[in-house]
Amino acid sequence: MGAPTTLDALLRELRGRLQAAGSEEPGLEARLLLGAATGLDTSALIARGLDAPTTLQRKRADTLCRRREAGEPIAHILGRRAFWSLDLEVSRACLIPRPETELLVEQALAAIDACGRAHPRVLDLGTGSGAIILALKTERPSIVAVATDRSPDALRQARANADTPGLTVTFLQGAWLAPFKPGDAFDVIVSNPPYIAPDDPHLTRGDLRFEPREALAAPQAGLGDLYTIIDTAPAHLTPGAPLLLEHGFNQARAVRARMEQAGYRKVQSLRDPAGHERITLGTRA
Ligand code: GLN
Repeated sequence: MGAPTTLDALLRELRGRLQAAGSEEPGLEARLLLGAATGLDTSALIARGLDAPTTLQRKRADTLCRRREAGEPIAHILGRRAFWSLDLEVSRACLIPRPETELLVEQALAAIDACGRAHPRVLDLGTGSGAIILALKTERPSIVAVATDRSPDALRQARANADTPGLTVTFLQGAWLAPFKPGDAFDVIVSNPPYIAPDDPHLTRGDLRFEPREALAAPQAGLGDLYTIIDTAPAHLTPGAPLLLEHGFNQARAVRARMEQAGYRKVQSLRDPAGHERITLGTRA
C-alpha cells in the first residue's frame, strides 16, 4: 500500500489504525490527531480533503498515531481537553477532566443560585486542571472563586487554565481544607476527589495508567479522601450551605451514611445519565 495521496485517505488510514488498536472512537480521534498534525480544524479538513498532505504532515500524523496506539490518552497527545464550555490545557500533572463531572458543575450552579447572596463564596477541593471551579466562574462571574490542591504541578496547570480566559480564582496549595483558618467559610463547597480503591485493576488500564495516581486512588477502598472532606467541611461551610461530592458509582450509600453521621441535613444522591448514583450532597446544619 502506497502513502496516502489525499488528506481524506490519510484520515481513513489513521482511523483504521486506531480501530485496530482498540480505540472506541476511532473516527473522532483520527480527526483530532490529523488536525494536530496539520493545524487544520475539522471543517478545514473536510473542505481540503482532496489536498495532498505534505511529507511533514504525514510524518507528524504517524508519530501522533503511534503514541495513541501505544495507549497514551488523546488528551495528553493533544495537550488539551474540552470540558463544559472550556478548552483546558492538560498534562500528566492532573486528572483529565471527565464528562461525568459536568453533572457536578450543573448541581453546583443550582446551589450557587439558591444561596441568595450577591457574591457567593465557592470552594473547589482538589481542583486538578481547574475544570470545576473554572466552569463555575465562567457561568457565574459574580462568585468569589477559591480552589485548593495538594500538588504544586496541578496548581500551575490550573492557574494557566484560569489565565487564558482571564478568570479570577484564588488557588491555594494544600490538602483539602488545610489552607484555611477557623472562621474561613464558604457558601458552596464542591469536590471531585480521588475515589478509586488502590487495588482496583482499572488503574492499570487505559487512560488511567497515564494520570497521577494521587488524583485517582484513595485509601479505605477509595473512600478515605471523601471521608476526610465530609468530616472537615462543616467547619468551613456557612449555616445551611451545601457540600457536593462526586464519587464512584457504588459509593453513594457509604457517602450518604458518613454525611448523616457527620450531621449534614438533606443528604441525597443524584444519578448520572447512565443511571449511576454519582453525586451526593448535603447541607450544614
Ligand atoms: N477536580 C478535578 C476534576 O474534576 C480533579 C479531580 C481529581 O484529580 N480527582 O477534573
